[in-house]
Amino acid sequence: MGYLLKRKLLHIFFPNRCPVCGELIGAMERFCVSCAERLTPYEGSFRIEGAESFTAAFVYDDAVKPAVFLLKDGICGNAAYALGGELADRLKAEGASKDTDVIVPAPMHSKDIRRRGFNQSALIAKELGRLLDIPVDTKSVVKIRHTHTQKGLGKGGRAVNLRSAFTASPTLKGKRVLLVDDICTTGSTLREITSAIRKAGAASVRCACCCKTNSHRD
Ligand SMILES: [Zn+2]
Repeated sequence: MGYLLKRKLLHIFFPNRCPVCGELIGAMERFCVSCAERLTPYEGSFRIEGAESFTAAFVYDDAVKPAVFLLKDGICGNAAYALGGELADRLKAEGASKDTDVIVPAPMHSKDIRRRGFNQSALIAKELGRLLDIPVDTKSVVKIRHTHTQKGLGKGGRAVNLRSAFTASPTLKGKRVLLVDDICTTGSTLREITSAIRKAGAASVRCACCCKTNSHRD
């Protein structure tokens, strides 16, 4: 069964809801009209050391926050659909999708995946893979060291906290990688993962997030 048909059938039993306010919306819609108007598209020019480009769909503010919470809770299936869809549009418009061989989600440590049950970045990566028709690789980059939460740490503290936390397999050698995460704050996580992927011999790394904070704090 095709994805669209499946989504429409599912909508009959579990009506689609806006991941920000919870209002019922059409099967193929991402947000309700009034929430869509309040979201702020990201227009900054952030850089991740070692990466070719950085793309984000939205500024992380109070308007989009509920959708990100639902994505992390795994309660609302439409959060990944809505946020991933917006990010895919952005990547297409920037032409980044043409220069990508494989999509890699920012990995979580196995302990954290067990606790949450899923990796929210992998849900976004899956949406991007479907919409951009690019394979998703959830195995080649691994978080090998369990780290403390980045919340409350400054830029320097975040970088130290993450040092040598990630490893990438040589299967990424020569590949043009699109690295995907849900939120980017200081960019420390993406920088560490980018460095691991480059060490594995990837041809290039592009970074993409659903949301970018305006300040460098949570
Ligand atoms: Zn809404």
